Amino acid sequence: MTTAWQEIVGHEWAVNLLREAIVQERVGHAYLFTGPRHVGKTALALRFAQALNCEAEVAGRPCGQCRSCRLIAAGRHPDIRLVTPEVSSRGVPTLKIEQIRELQHGLSLGTYEGRWKIAILADFEGATPGAANAFLKTLEEPPRGVVLLLTASEADALLPTITSRCRVIALRPLPTAQIAGALEQRWETPVARARLLAHLADGRLGWALQALEDESLLAARQEHLALLQEALSGSRVERFALAERLANKPDALPAILRTWLSWWRDLALLAWGGREDQISNVDAEDELVRRSRRWEREAILKALQQTQRALWQLEHNANTRLALEVLLLVYPRAEGG
Ligand SMILES: [Zn+2]
Repeated sequence: MTTAWQEIVGHEWAVNLLREAIVQERVGHAYLFTGPRHVGKTALALRFAQALNCEAEVAGRPCGQCRSCRLIAAGRHPDIRLVTPEVSSRGVPTLKIEQIRELQHGLSLGTYEGRWKIAILADFEGATPGAANAFLKTLEEPPRGVVLLLTASEADALLPTITSRCRVIALRPLPTAQIAGALEQRWETPVARARLLAHLADGRLGWALQALEDESLLAARQEHLALLQEALSGSRVERFALAERLANKPDALPAILRTWLSWWRDLALLAWGGREDQISNVDAEDELVRRSRRWEREAILKALQQTQRALWQLEHNANTRLALEVLLLVYPRAEGG
């Protein structure tokens, strides 16, 4: 029987576990989906919510077609609440105690039309201590007919008292070939583009889909790589000037440094004997291979570590310009490409 479960790419064991829980009527009252950003945690939680309230025969749930399935897909089911952290003025995603209180009030009211009342709490590591403690009460004594679905980057990011009350579903990054195959077959992406996106995605299908839809993501990456080339071929004076320019666009900097980091990781991988098909930046393969042969391993490792350090420093409110100057002076010089 075909069900909308089949629309989930990968994570087969998790799908089986959730489907069996419904078929055997052994649904837990709380689940915690963990894994890197964009790996598919919320997508899986939403699909589970559909399966729980689907109106089709149990073996065919979720059907994806019934009123309940369609309302959930549209984000308009009255018994499904999605709670996401709000981004604070400092740019930090924060789940506040007020959001938990409001949710608790909603959960206490009973269902409107579904079998289950379901709360999806995304990125729960963003919960303030007050919010986490308030939520603990709901976890300890959940109202009847309520299923709580949490997501987080890792179980360790939450209070042990919360993790221990949830069934933990740890999602792993998907194999690159699986993402490339899904992009080609299901999203009809041309082969070369599917390959590039799959390699850049680092096992996170959600990221690849976002990049597929929003061309500006890949365009921004091209700009980041061009800036890196400028840094590598620049003189000492030119690098100081570049550091000053970059320091003036603090909003774009974390993304720029993450692109650079992925480039240095690829270079390190090749320098230590990794295979070309293991790198992320497959469209820069020729250049990466050339540089990995020309530069000393030690210089590559230092550049990689300093990039990591600069990223950490920016996230911890260090002097941006100084951090960039130090970084660019560590980078080796590209003599004539
Ligand atoms: Zn349905």
